[in-house]
Amino acid sequence: MGEISGKKNLSYTEVFSLNGAAEANILPVTSICNISCVFCSHKQNPPGVLSYRIAACTPDEVRQVVSFLDPARPVIIGESATRIIEGEPLTNPFIREVLSAVRAALPHTAVQITTNGILLDESMTDFLCRLGRVTVNLSLNSAVEKSRYTLMGDACPGRALRNTRLLKSYGLPFNGSIVAMPHLVGWSDLEETIGYLEQCGAETIRLLLPGFTRLAAPALRFKPALREELNDFAAGLRHRAGVPLTCEPPLVYDLKPVVGGVIKGTPAAAAGIRRGDVIHSVNNVPARTRVQAFRQVFKAASPEIIVAREEGLVPLQVKKEPLERSGLVMDYDLDPVLVTDMALALRRNGAKRALALASELGSAVINSGLMQFLEGEAEIEVLTVKSRFFGGSIGAAGLLTVADFETALTEYLRDKPGRLPPVALLPEPAFDRRGRDLTGRSYVDLEQKFGIRFELL
Ligand code: SF4
Repeated sequence: MGEISGKKNLSYTEVFSLNGAAEANILPVTSICNISCVFCSHKQNPPGVLSYRIAACTPDEVRQVVSFLDPARPVIIGESATRIIEGEPLTNPFIREVLSAVRAALPHTAVQITTNGILLDESMTDFLCRLGRVTVNLSLNSAVEKSRYTLMGDACPGRALRNTRLLKSYGLPFNGSIVAMPHLVGWSDLEETIGYLEQCGAETIRLLLPGFTRLAAPALRFKPALREELNDFAAGLRHRAGVPLTCEPPLVYDLKPVVGGVIKGTPAAAAGIRRGDVIHSVNNVPARTRVQAFRQVFKAASPEIIVAREEGLVPLQVKKEPLERSGLVMDYDLDPVLVTDMALALRRNGAKRALALASELGSAVINSGLMQFLEGEAEIEVLTVKSRFFGGSIGAAGLLTVADFETALTEYLRDKPGRLPPVALLPEPAFDRRGRDLTGRSYVDLEQKFGIRFELL
C-alpha cells in the first residue's frame, strides 16, 4: 500500500520502519490531502529525492506497528516525517478506528494531531475530546477567506474558521500555526490570523517561515532578510499577545536559557515564571542551554527553579508530575549532550582534532556549544555546509545530502590543503537508520572519497 517514488511498492510496516517513524514516535496515517497549499514542501523536491506516499492506513496496520511507539512520549500524527509525504490525517476514512486502536494500546499516552481543520467538525471534535489526552496542532495559516484561497486553494474557507471556534467550547487544547507568507498576503493578514487564533483559545501560536528550494516558483521566493523581519514582527506583537508567540526556525545565536513564553493555566504559569526570565538552575543544576533547562523541568517532579530577572535571582517551584508538561515555551537551541558525544567520538577514534559538518541553521549554536562546553585538548572545527541539492533558502540539517557534504569538504581541502583531520562528524538528521541520505546515498561514500573516519551524531 505504500509506494516509493519510482520503485517497488512497500508495505505500511516497511514504510514505517524505513522512515524511522518509531524513533520519532510519528505514526503516518495517509499522504492524501484535501487542499493544495502553495508552500507544501514536497511540491518543490528536486528529482532524485526518495520519498514515500502512503494511502490511508487501516486500523489493523496501525495495530501491527503501535508496539514500536514509545508510550512515554506523545504519539505524533499528521506531522511531516522527512521521507513520508504526509497528508491531512482526518481524510483517512478509518481515522476514528485508527485513533481508537492507538488509545487501546497506549491508554495513558498523549496524542498530538496536526490538521488543517477543514474536517474538524463538531462530531470529530467531540470524538477527540472523548478519546482523551489529545492536543491539536491547527495549521490555520490564514483567517482571511481570500488569503485561504490564495495560500491553500481552500474553496470553502468558512469551514476551517467555524471549526476553529468550536475547539474552545469543547475544551480541546490546541496550538495554532501559521505558515507566514507576508510577501503573498501581507503583514496585516498575519496579524489578523494571530488575533483570530488567540480569540479562539489557542494555547500557543507558531509562525513558520517556509523554506523554498531552487525549483520554487518565483512568487514563493523571498529575500533572506524576511527571517529577521518576521522575528521583529513577532517581537512587536508579543507584549500584547495573551499567548506565547514563537517563530520557526528560531533566530537563536546564543545558548542563554531564556523563557520565550508561558502557557496559561499550566504549572509554570502557577509558579509565576514569566516570558523573558532566564533559567539559572533547575534543582541546583546550572541551566546551560534552553534545551537542557526545558528537558530538566519536563522530567522532574515539582522542580525548584531559580530564574534571573531584573531584580536578581528568584527561587520558584513548578508543581508538576515527572514527564508532565510544564507550560514553558522555549526556542530550540542545543543539547549540551551533543558536545559530550562529539568529544567521545574523538576519543573513540584516538583523535585530537575533528571537523563538525553543520547546517547553515545549526552552525552558530554548535559553535557556541563547542566554545562553552568542550573540555580538554580536543579541537573541533565547525564547517558550515550549504544545501546545494535543495538550494533556495533551505538550511536545515535534515535536508543535507552526501553530495552537499562532498562539496563542502572539497572546498575545505582547496582552502586548507593537508588540514583535513582524521575524523569528521556528520549531522544524524541527514541520514536514515541505514546511513543513507534523502537521495539514497550512504555516508560511507565520503569515507571512500576522503580516506578519513565519519561518525553520525
Ligand atoms: S494541508 Fe499540509 S499536507 Fe495538505 S497541502 Fe497543505 S501543507 Fe500539504
